Amino acid sequence: MRKSTRAFPARWESALQANYGVPQITLVSGKGLVVKDSDGNSYLDFLGGIATNVLGHAHPAITSAVSKQISTLGHVSNFFIHPGVISLAEKLQSLTGDTAARVFFCNSGAEANEAAFKLSRKTGRTDVVATVGAFHGRTMGALSLTGQPTKRTPFEPLVPGVTHVQFGNLESMKRKVNRRTAMVIVEPILGEAGVVVPSDGYLRGVRDICDRAGALMVVDCVQTGVGRTGQWFGYEHEGVTPDVITLAKGLGGGLPIGAMIALGRTSRYFQPGDHGSTFGGNPVACASALAVIDVIEKKSLIEKSRHQEAVLKSEISKLPGVAEVRGRGLLLGIVFSADIAFDVRDGLLANGVLVNAPTPNVIRIAPALTVTEKEVKKFITIFTNVLSEVNHD
Ligand SMILES: *Cc1c(COP(=O)(O)O)cnc(C)c1O
Repeated sequence: MRKSTRAFPARWESALQANYGVPQITLVSGKGLVVKDSDGNSYLDFLGGIATNVLGHAHPAITSAVSKQISTLGHVSNFFIHPGVISLAEKLQSLTGDTAARVFFCNSGAEANEAAFKLSRKTGRTDVVATVGAFHGRTMGALSLTGQPTKRTPFEPLVPGVTHVQFGNLESMKRKVNRRTAMVIVEPILGEAGVVVPSDGYLRGVRDICDRAGALMVVDCVQTGVGRTGQWFGYEHEGVTPDVITLAKGLGGGLPIGAMIALGRTSRYFQPGDHGSTFGGNPVACASALAVIDVIEKKSLIEKSRHQEAVLKSEISKLPGVAEVRGRGLLLGIVFSADIAFDVRDGLLANGVLVNAPTPNVIRIAPALTVTEKEVKKFITIFTNVLSEVNHD
């Protein structure tokens, strides 16, 4: 058999590392919220490329901005300026509402958190407080911040000085944050851990604890940024101002780009030579990110997503077997009263809908912000049918 006629999963297995397991579906094209596999089947993408494709697939604003950029100027390194990187940094700066904010660009969420971790050393302190269950990335520094033992343990020893406290618990955080703490890092909503929303006032409490100890408050908005939660950044629901914001997933609308935004006085911490990235801020990724932000603004996608959120929450939380629908905006966790999430995920896939199940009792959905009412209705119909089949099994 010629290599090219063998099944994709078999080829994947014999050429790619085993770190992901072997996916069984091969996607070959997409338009809006619909993706097609190599057998011609269509799927409604309610995972949004794992919360990255905020404008769906093949959005004309992105394809045009990216094609134009790559055919004009592909890469220049950070020895030179190109206009796009400035425009994007200015845009992000204005979205934070802080003219003192300064942006560092990289290529992923882990790298954005690595940059924040290094920046925090500029305080002259080395201790870090993070939270149990949090996901901050897989590189050694970011993994040291990640609060999930299954991901950490095989790779210990990690960076020393990081303590994990219970997410959502201000008392235990208060006990661990002190004058040696360089930074506290939190997600506004735990994404990978199953869309866990802390109780109201949590981020304000973290802000207060950081202020008392003189520690930086780093908010990991890699998953909860760029309109995902019904605001530009996931922390805005609580009206706090962090010292550092990290972004990635949705920022490039599918292209790899991350950002570490330092606000206020922390924006001056990095000095020439302190940090860098070859591809960070490259013209093509910046062009895509600018297109993403522009479309979100012009089409009022954040405002519209709040309506879809309301419909999804009210319709799905009524269904038997659903304990609760949590999350904000279009980052929602459907929590079941039993461990049926893997069966529901598989049932949805068999019926042409993509989601994921971060834990045995939670389905995560993160559709593009361009999702239409019709697509939301279609999702609810299929979800209702699949759930009733699973419940009767
Ligand atoms: C996905 C994610 C990361 C890691 O991003 P990568 O691009 O995979 O390195 C970090 N933090 C949060 C909150 C994430 O959801």
